[in-house]
Amino acid sequence: MDVVRYGRLLYEKGLTSGTGGNISARVGDLMVITPSGSCKGMLDQTELVTVDIVTGKAVSGKPSMETPFHLTVYRKRPDVNGVVHVHPRFCTALACAGTPVDPALTPEGLMVLGRRVPLIPYATPGTDDLAVMLSREVEGADAFLLENHGSIAVGKDLKDAFHRMETLEAHAELQYRLALLGKGRPLPEDEVRRILRE
Ligand SMILES: [Zn+2]
Repeated sequence: MDVVRYGRLLYEKGLTSGTGGNISARVGDLMVITPSGSCKGMLDQTELVTVDIVTGKAVSGKPSMETPFHLTVYRKRPDVNGVVHVHPRFCTALACAGTPVDPALTPEGLMVLGRRVPLIPYATPGTDDLAVMLSREVEGADAFLLENHGSIAVGKDLKDAFHRMETLEAHAELQYRLALLGKGRPLPEDEVRRILRE
């Protein structure tokens, strides 16, 4: 199952630690999500929890505390089949500083992250408030920073969401290092439009 495989990869690549983060995949009208309080590097297929996307009810087990915002993504984005939420070092540093990610620093940033990575205002983890905050931006972007919390990436499948999260963290690290250098020059707007084919 992809949830087990990408959970392990997120852990091995240092994108999550302890029991932080949660990941899910859409399977028809259901979503398969990591269980509450689990280490993403040591998941077992039998621990995964299935939740009905329409009713929000868990078919079995105790799903991740962040189930509300995963449901919001699947309900509002029929094109999305995988969601990754973690607390990677550099994304979380920018999110705690209130500094948005600027994808226009590199062509890869623009191609993978799109024109905008919204910074979602802080709301208590696991609450419907956080799901509502995300729902305001979820139709206009595929990657998000959560203020004072972490990051979210979505994709057409879990592999796509995983790659986007990896790129988001690499981009956040680039931005952190540029801040140390005291400079960083985004691509000019005409090049941004060319890359995005706008
Ligand atoms: Zn979190």
